[in-house]
This record gives sequence, C-alpha cells and structure tokens, in this order.
Amino acid sequence: PIPTLGNPQNTIEILKKYNFSFQKKFGQNFLIDTRVLDKIIAAADITKDDYVLEIGPGIGTMTQYLAAAAGKVTAVEIDKALIPILADTLKDYDNVNIVNQDILKMDIQKLVDEENGGKPVKVVANLPYYITTPIIMGLFESHVPIESITVMVQKEVADRMQVGPGTKDYGALSLAVQYYAQPYIVANVPPNCFMPRPKVGSAVIRLTVHREPPVRVEDEKLMFRMIRASFNQRRKTLANGLKNSAELDLPREIVEESIEELGKGPGVRGETLTLEDFALLSNIIYRKIN
Ligand code: SAM
Repeated sequence: PIPTLGNPQNTIEILKKYNFSFQKKFGQNFLIDTRVLDKIIAAADITKDDYVLEIGPGIGTMTQYLAAAAGKVTAVEIDKALIPILADTLKDYDNVNIVNQDILKMDIQKLVDEENGGKPVKVVANLPYYITTPIIMGLFESHVPIESITVMVQKEVADRMQVGPGTKDYGALSLAVQYYAQPYIVANVPPNCFMPRPKVGSAVIRLTVHREPPVRVEDEKLMFRMIRASFNQRRKTLANGLKNSAELDLPREIVEESIEELGKGPGVRGETLTLEDFALLSNIIYRKIN
C-alpha cells in the first residue's frame, strides 16, 4: 500500500469521519507535509530488516511510511480515541501493531524482547513536546538495545542536544544526549507542516546511539548528579554549584581538592567543561568518596 495521509486533504477527511477533536494535553500536532515525512524516513535509514518503535502515531500518518519501509512496526499511542482511527488508516498494513499505552509507563525492554528477540530497535517519532526529555532520557537510561532515535522535537531542544561547551544552549541535556549518542540535526520544520500549527519551530534530530560510551565513567549516576548540580546555578562557579547541591551532598574539601586535581583553576565554570572533563572530575570524586 502507498501512504496517503501526508496529504492534508486526506487528514482532514479522516478527522471529520471520526469527529476527532485534538487534545492539547497530549501535544497533538499531526504532520501534513509529505516532504518532511520522506526526510524523516530517509534520516532514520529504515529497511525491511528493521524493527521500529513509533511513539505517538496520532492518526497513523508516519506509521504508514514506517510500515512501508520497515520489517515490523510497533506504535504506542496514549489517546484511546485514536485507536479505532489507527485500525482504519493502517488496515492495509500487516506488519504494524498498535498499543494503547503511555510510553512513559511501558516496559520497552519486554516489548523489544518479545517483538524483536532482544535485537536493537530503531525509534522514530514526532514527539509530544511536553514530555520530550523524559521520553528520550527514559530510553537511554533503560539501556534497552537501540540503534538510533530519529525524532521531531522543538527546535530549541534539538539545538540544546547538539551544542558543545561555551554556548548558551549547552547544559545537562547536551551532555546526557552526547554521552549516549551522536546527535545530528536533519532538518528544521516550520509550524505550517502540522495540523494544528504548534507555536514553536520544530526540528528533526537523529541520535545515533554509541556502541561504547565515548568516555570511561566509574559511576554514571554520580556524573549526572554532578552535571545537574553544576548547571543548576549557571552564573556560579563549578565549585559553588557542587558544594551547594543537596543531591550530591559532598564535603567542601572533597569538592575543592577534586577541582584542583582537574587542573582548570578554582574559578572554573561548569558551562566550559566538556563531557571528558565531567567524566574525569566524577572519577576523581568517586575515588575520594569510595
Ligand atoms: N505521529 C503523528 C504525526 O506525526 O502526525 C502524531 C504526532 S503528535 C506530535 C504526538 C502524538 O503522541 C499524539 O498522537 C499524542 O496523542 C501522542 N502521545 C502523547 N503523549 C503520549 C504518551 N505519554 N505515550 C504515548 N503517546 C503519547
């Protein structure tokens, strides 16, 4: 079957047929641009050997494209009003299964084990923007085997994922994403490619998951607590950020000695440190407290 829903007329028709009303709380902005859909599928690099997890299929617009390109697709949708619509728009595709669930509550490891024998999955989604970060961090931290995550996100979030030290967008999200994956912004997407139009610009970003982490870290949780603490107080020094963190709860002397060992000076700021620097500093601290 050939995908039909990228055409706005067909989308309007389906919405009318089912008398569907958009739910703001679920971040529903459906794609109505075939060029954007083609770009996402190309960037995700989907072949018939692939098992794809789609988060939030909506009325199934991208799902049709994914089903045409992939071996098998599982699409997880929270809004039960969309389930009968998906059954209709995807009836000609025999390689799709729809799950009516909240992705944040789903056991993705179990799904990947059952559906793909534990082999790596490709995640593709036009994400609901209100939960972009929890979804992406949840996928990484679950340590489910994932090859790549190709997603539509708010443009400024894509920028934050991709930048390095010394820019205003650099922060805890940049470091977390880059610890797990190599980010690449595929395309910027304006509001008129969606129905209804979002208030913000969007971008497609591909995160190619690292096979091995790019840095060696003794204690990942400690490193991420440290990263959060040093960006909590942006205009303060790294030393103050780490000393004032209740979550870290480190003695002042440990913080001071460790920063001294890092060798970037006592007044160094968190936003100038690379992932390598954070890894090194967390390993120094780890050895002092263990
Ligand atoms: N993929 C469709 C498209 O591109 O036209 C819809 C994208 S829309 C931006 C986001 C979709 O995610 C909506 O269908 C929404 O109902 C769904 N959604 C929102 N929160 C969700 C959650 N926690 N779990 C699963 N799906 C969710």
